[in-house]
Amino acid sequence: MAVTENDADVDPTRPGWSFTEEELRTWAHAAADALADILVDGTQGPAVRRPPAELIEAWQSRRWADAGTGFGDLLSEVASTITPYPFGNAHPRFSAWVNSPPHPVGALAAGLAAALNPSVAGGNQAAVHLEHEVVRWFCEELGWPASAGGQFVSGASAASLTALTAARHHALSKAGYDDRALGLAGSGHRLTVYAGAESHSCHTKAVEALGIGSANIVHVPGDAAFRIQPDALDRLLSADREEGALPAAVIASAGTVNTGAVDPIGEIADVCRRHDVWLHVDGAYGGPAVLFLAEWQRELAGLSRADSIAIDPHKWLYVPVDAGLVLFRDRQDARDTFSLVPDYLRTGGDPAEPVWFSEYGLEQTRAFRALKVWMVLKYVGRKGFQRLVARDVAVAYALRDAVADADDFELLGSGLSIVCFRYRPPGLASDDLDEFNTVLLHRLRERGNVYLAGTRVDGSYGLRACIVNPRTTTSDIAALIDEIRSAAAS
Ligand SMILES: *Cc1c(COP(=O)(O)O)cnc(C)c1O
Repeated sequence: MAVTENDADVDPTRPGWSFTEEELRTWAHAAADALADILVDGTQGPAVRRPPAELIEAWQSRRWADAGTGFGDLLSEVASTITPYPFGNAHPRFSAWVNSPPHPVGALAAGLAAALNPSVAGGNQAAVHLEHEVVRWFCEELGWPASAGGQFVSGASAASLTALTAARHHALSKAGYDDRALGLAGSGHRLTVYAGAESHSCHTKAVEALGIGSANIVHVPGDAAFRIQPDALDRLLSADREEGALPAAVIASAGTVNTGAVDPIGEIADVCRRHDVWLHVDGAYGGPAVLFLAEWQRELAGLSRADSIAIDPHKWLYVPVDAGLVLFRDRQDARDTFSLVPDYLRTGGDPAEPVWFSEYGLEQTRAFRALKVWMVLKYVGRKGFQRLVARDVAVAYALRDAVADADDFELLGSGLSIVCFRYRPPGLASDDLDEFNTVLLHRLRERGNVYLAGTRVDGSYGLRACIVNPRTTTSDIAALIDEIRSAAAS
């Protein structure tokens, strides 16, 4: 589209950027009402609400219109075609994957942050200082020194990519090789990464993207509760070093996504120190439990010895997606890895301006994620989170105990607020249980009263519930058990 002299003279407020202050306020109130409707509606009705076929067809075929649409019409369309078909994670009977309901304060904060719309790459601005404050709060929870730091990213996938990039750089630069300039091909090193059997797939993705290659992920044997065995890790590291490998990182989990297993992080940290290897801890899901619950204080001491940690406030801190956090015990490691500052982005000599976030990570223009996290953290308070997280765990324990005690259920694995189990109707042969539970999960989704995930534990297929919803009660657990029996009988 050519820009002509006449185009430049068109009133810039028309079309598409035309609203009075009064209209703006009317829109904002209407949007706030729609937001409240969503927050209420999402907790009610069936747990699974799939969009009708006609609507899906429309999404696949409609064309973008030349003419604009009024804001009121847009809101109505959202109310009739978008909000009735949510993912489901606000619902008390949704316990699939690790998706919490949005804290209402976080949902409102997301709108405020978008209205401010800063780029939080850097600068002397409120958004930058606020992000430093929230990062510092987490570092203080970990008991980390003032040299610690970090930043918000989209989630633990981005956090682990960021952390493992730093781990790779750390290992290679210690070996006297400049991976940033020269790439991996000429390094002459075979980099290895160590992870447990239940380590999240995002680490495989990161290792592949980093050019280390997933064949160089060494799977460390676990114990009966799926936790990394530190002795085995120790032996593997010694053997690989002897064979000339360069271990780049050990990945431990503070709550695996499958069964909620928490690795013995302190002992793993001992092994890492002995072998001088970077320790990254994936606390995406379980981080808040380890930080806030008294029963995990031993693991917290271990967690504090990690070189980098991923925590997802968009999971067990109920902050709306996306809000991931990558933390470094020594933020200089991140700066050494990522800083690449062109002149026009250097700070302008303002002593109040912190070093830009963009020097410590992969993103340049960065969202104001800190506001929603900060507002939810402040609204709930530290004690409040202790109670909410403990309550989710207690509700999960109620499910765990119910399936362990029932003759027609079998517990496959459980940790933190995750319970993996399967239905075992009397008389059904063991060989048929996988198939039976696969069909059962489909049936449950069709009925739509509860929303579970499927999984495998030790080769057995079963159902998986993860309780990260303060609205989920023990009566929802009783209803879940009844619903499974009823679906199985039909
Ligand atoms: C969700 C999750 C991840 C991946 O995090 P994203 O926020 O989805 O990128 C990694 N590890 C664990 C344990 C998780 O629960």
